[in-house]
Amino acid sequence: MTAAVTDIATRRAPSVIGQITQDDGQRFYLIGSGDDALRLWSVTTAIGVVFKEGLVRWAASLAADAAFAELPTVVAASRRKACGNTYNRCYEKHGRQTRCERCACGDCKECVRKFIANRHYAEKSRRADEGKAVHDAIEWWALHGQLPAVDEQIRPYIRSFLAFVKEYGLTPDSFLMSEAVGVNRAEGYAGTLDCVIRFDARASDAAADLVARVLAITVEQAVAEGRTVDLIVDFKTREKELGDRGPEFWAEQALQVTAYRRVETVQIKGTDVEVPMPATDGGMLVQLRPDGATPRLVVTDDLSYAAFLAALNLYRWFVDFGTAAVSVRSFPLPKPEKKATPGKAAAKPAATKATAPAKSAPAKKTAAARRTTAPARTVAERVLGTPPGTLATSGAGLRDDEIPF
Ligand SMILES: [Zn+2]
Ligand SMILES: [Zn+2]
Repeated sequence: MTAAVTDIATRRAPSVIGQITQDDGQRFYLIGSGDDALRLWSVTTAIGVVFKEGLVRWAASLAADAAFAELPTVVAASRRKACGNTYNRCYEKHGRQTRCERCACGDCKECVRKFIANRHYAEKSRRADEGKAVHDAIEWWALHGQLPAVDEQIRPYIRSFLAFVKEYGLTPDSFLMSEAVGVNRAEGYAGTLDCVIRFDARASDAAADLVARVLAITVEQAVAEGRTVDLIVDFKTREKELGDRGPEFWAEQALQVTAYRRVETVQIKGTDVEVPMPATDGGMLVQLRPDGATPRLVVTDDLSYAAFLAALNLYRWFVDFGTAAVSVRSFPLPKPEKKATPGKAAAKPAATKATAPAKSAPAKKTAAARRTTAPARTVAERVLGTPPGTLATSGAGLRDDEIPF
C-alpha cells in the first residue's frame, strides 16, 4: 500500500470478510457475522452464468486426448464388467490414501469412462493451483521487491511477469494495491482484485504508449506532461504458447475487470481495514504465458458495467427463482373456500388476500434463508423495482411447505 490509498480515511469493517466456496463451485463473500451477515456474490461466480462455447470444446478435447493417452487401459476396461462402485464417495470418509470394499475399482468400463469424462475437472483444479501460485509470487514481489522461491513449473510465468514489469518500467511502488477484496454493497457483489498499477509515461516507451491510449492524448504530450494512469490489472495465466490464434482474450474478462473497477470499498488483505475504492483510469488484462506476456486494455465503461449487472441479475434469478420457475408447485390448485364462521371472517378481512404481503414475503424469505445465498437485494427488488414484502414471487402465494426447495 502506498500513500495514494492510505491517505483516504480508513474505517474498520464490521468484521472480517470471509470467502465461502460451496461444493458446486459457487462462491460468495461474507461480511459481518451471525444472522445479519451480508452475503455478496463473487464476481467470477456471477459471470459464470455466461455460456462459454470454448470451455465445452476444451473439456471435450481433454477427454479425447485422455482416451488416446490411456488406450491400453480403455481397451482392457471395455472387456471388464462394471464394479458397481464407480460413483461411491466413500473416500470422503476414509481419504484417498486408503481403500475399502465400497471403493471404485478404477479399472472397469464405468470407472475408466468416468476418469476420462472428468479430465476437465482435474485440469481445471491443477491450473487454478498454478494460477494462484503465480498470483502469490506477483503479490510478494509487489510487497517486497523480490521474488519468493517458486516451483519449477511456474517459473516461466514469473519470467514473463518480470519481462512485462521491465517493459513498462514498473517498480514495486507502481503497485498501489494488490490482492484486495473489493465490495459493492449496493449491487450485492464482491471480488478479489489482483492489483491497481500506476503507469508513468516517462518510465518507458511502452508505458508512454499505454498512458497516451488511455488518456486519448499523444505520446509526446503524455511524456512532456509526465502523465500517469492508474489501472485495475488482472493477470491471467495461459499454458498455451501464443501460436497462430494470438493471445485470445474473452469479452467476459472485460466484465470482470469492470466489476472490480466499480466496487465501493476495498478491504486490505489480512486486515479488517476497509477503505473507499480509489478512482482508476481504466482496466487491463495481462496474459502471462510461458513464452511471454501480452497486456490488453479493456473497455470498462458504463455499458460494460450494465452488462456485468445484467449477468449478475441473471445469475441471481437462477439461484433465487430458477427452480420455482419450472416447478409444478408454483401453481397449486386453490381449494374451495370453507365457509367461515362470522367471528373468524371478521378477524381476516378480504383485503389481506388481494395484496397478501404478510403471507408471501416471509414465505419467500424463509425459502431464501434456507439456501446458503441471500444477496443484499433480491432480483425482484432490483429488476422489478419492487420493495421487499410486496411481491408474491412465484405467481402464487406459496405456503412454507409448498416451496419446492
Ligand atoms: Zn472406499
Ligand atoms: Zn469400477
